[in-house]
Amino acid sequence: MGGTYAVIGDPIDHSLSPNIHSAAFRHLGMDCSYIAYRVLKGELADGVSALKKIAINGFNVTIPHKVEMMKLLDHLDETCSITGAVNTVSNSDGALTGYNTDMDGFLEPLERRGIDMDGTSVLLLGAGGAARAIVAGLAGKKTGSITVVNRTPEKAEELCMFAQRLGVESDVGRFGSSLKGYDMVVNSTSMGMNGEPSPVSFEDADRGLVVYDIVYKPMNTNLIKSAKSSGCTVVFGYEMLLGQAVRAFDIWHNKKAPHDAMKKALLGGF
Ligand code: NAP
Repeated sequence: MGGTYAVIGDPIDHSLSPNIHSAAFRHLGMDCSYIAYRVLKGELADGVSALKKIAINGFNVTIPHKVEMMKLLDHLDETCSITGAVNTVSNSDGALTGYNTDMDGFLEPLERRGIDMDGTSVLLLGAGGAARAIVAGLAGKKTGSITVVNRTPEKAEELCMFAQRLGVESDVGRFGSSLKGYDMVVNSTSMGMNGEPSPVSFEDADRGLVVYDIVYKPMNTNLIKSAKSSGCTVVFGYEMLLGQAVRAFDIWHNKKAPHDAMKKALLGGF
């Protein structure tokens, strides 16, 4: 079965998605290709129309188009309508359906570890696009409460209200406050990409604290390093990246993605 797939965004040169999906095609002997296509801000409609002309089967959407792309869809999956952002699109004879696989991508590594989120308390750093998908994912897993900490407090307030609308208790916290009482800390800010120090300290963290950094480059951020040396369970950003790619594969090809082959390709890209 053949097919053409893509990822659109800007910048796009360093995207790991072509490696991950091409490895899956090779592993399963599928006659498909996956390309990275640079589409500048303000040129999304033209970019999407070019993809339709080549009868693209599906594509991923990344920065800066995840929200703007919503307007160009014919159908919205629930994951997309909840989060208000799209990262995966399938094309059926010119009709585009949008999905948000960041939600499942975030949850997958937790499920793989057998971590049950029911009734847990989460400290969430960041209130951007990824944080919104994380809140929606956690709400679906009956998380008890989410404290949101963000550099711009108004955005933390907004995300808090979003969590409450989804039925999760939520409040706004401050950087530097104690980790006592939390079951999981998630970093969804871009802090860590440029070697920033860990945004939290672990002195009074409870035993069994799960620390999830969605930043995937570098793989071992300072947050991950200090969480590891404090004996916490760590979840790496690359695992979420892999999880969202696996889910996109399932949607497009309607068959089980070769997780291990995709993981190997992803880790080889670092
Ligand atoms: P976004 O919508 O632009 O949000 C960025 C967030 O980071 C905001 O909360 C922003 O706070 C905060 N931030 C940025 N610079 C900061 C700084 N110097 N100090 C404190 N806070 C800062 O981006 P996003 O799409 O949510 O992505 C956030 C990060 O997650 C990126 O590093 C991205 O690569 C990563 N990500 C990973 C995956 C994965 O699969 N692993 C998926 C999606 C995203 P303000 O609101 O104050 O600006």
